[in-house]
Amino acid sequence: MRIYFDHSATTPVDEEVVEAMLEYFGKKFGNASSLHSFGREAKSALEESREKVAKIINADANEIIFTGSGTESDNMAIKGIAFKNGSGHIITSRIEHPAVLETCRYLEKKGFDVTYIPVDKYGMVDVEKVENEIRDNTILISIMHANNEIGTIEPIEEIGKIARKNNIIFHTDAVQSVGKIDIDVKKMNIDMLSISSHKIYGPKGVGALYIRRGIKIEAILHGGGHEYGLRSSTENITGIVGFAKACEIAEKRMKDDAIKLRKMRDRIIKKTLEIEESYLTGHPEKRLPNNASFYFKGIEGESMVLMLDAKGIAVSTGSACSSKKLQPSHVLLATGIKPEDAHGSLRVTLGRKNSEEEVDYFLEVLPEIIEKLREISPMWRK
Ligand SMILES: *Cc1c(COP(=O)(O)O)cnc(C)c1O
Repeated sequence: MRIYFDHSATTPVDEEVVEAMLEYFGKKFGNASSLHSFGREAKSALEESREKVAKIINADANEIIFTGSGTESDNMAIKGIAFKNGSGHIITSRIEHPAVLETCRYLEKKGFDVTYIPVDKYGMVDVEKVENEIRDNTILISIMHANNEIGTIEPIEEIGKIARKNNIIFHTDAVQSVGKIDIDVKKMNIDMLSISSHKIYGPKGVGALYIRRGIKIEAILHGGGHEYGLRSSTENITGIVGFAKACEIAEKRMKDDAIKLRKMRDRIIKKTLEIEESYLTGHPEKRLPNNASFYFKGIEGESMVLMLDAKGIAVSTGSACSSKKLQPSHVLLATGIKPEDAHGSLRVTLGRKNSEEEVDYFLEVLPEIIEKLREISPMWRK
């Protein structure tokens, strides 16, 4: 038995998505820039896909730029605004994905000023703090919609309002929220928004950046002028078609999926918190429907993940990226969790295909593993 509970790291590609893509690997292989029928076929697939992706966030098709990943979308948005301005001040948070944080750190080296807004114990960004940090030369606010480690959903609409009022561009990394909770870029005053296909049951290596009409950014890739001159590269039509199909499916399923996931998530949270010295991370209510995240005192996260893996259950500790570094997650530390406790973190992220039976099995196995690990742990008090 293999159980996949790590959907914030990546998702399996939906069968319907695979089906949609196959045609574009084979028969419909044209280059969307070509004038002949092969090219026109690819071009119309590209533009239909743009509409489907736009629809899921209530944008217009010509406000969508296809990219190679969520990371690229974040880089394009932040560097694109920074380089357009040449200098200035950027506001972001301490719990962003590395795609945002490392881009901001890079820009600091290039002479830009960056403010990293702290969060509360639930990982919430305080809207007032964002407003207080605005300076005359603030060019960009970039705050994520939902956190990939602890699932906390940020007050994006309010931050958007403040950005708009102060005439500052507002970008949000919505890689974890698209397809899981409602997003309306118009209603939420969002100027730029990043999406990644492989987090919503689409293929890897494709993403999108929404750029509100009228906003000018500097291109990062130069060449043949694809994607409105902002992202030169022959379009990955196969990937884009799959991504668009994934958006279409997500839009249809979102409400029903959320109800089912929330039910399983809440059962995992309730039962897991019955384990001695276990704590929920992230916000108790304002969290993604599929995220249950914790830390356990006296536990080493890596061992816990490996022991669960030996039982056939795939989960993660911290984020997939930070777990490689063996440093406690910057997100957990930002919420005030002590480094030694942050090492004992567990992230369970559910998906469409998971079942209540899988949850039962996990809940049966987890307490035994925690007990075993604590028996041999020098950090455990007994
Ligand atoms: C996964 C993720 C990214 C990066 O997306 P890729 O397509 O894997 O590059 C960015 N931000 C968040 C919040 C993510 O979860």
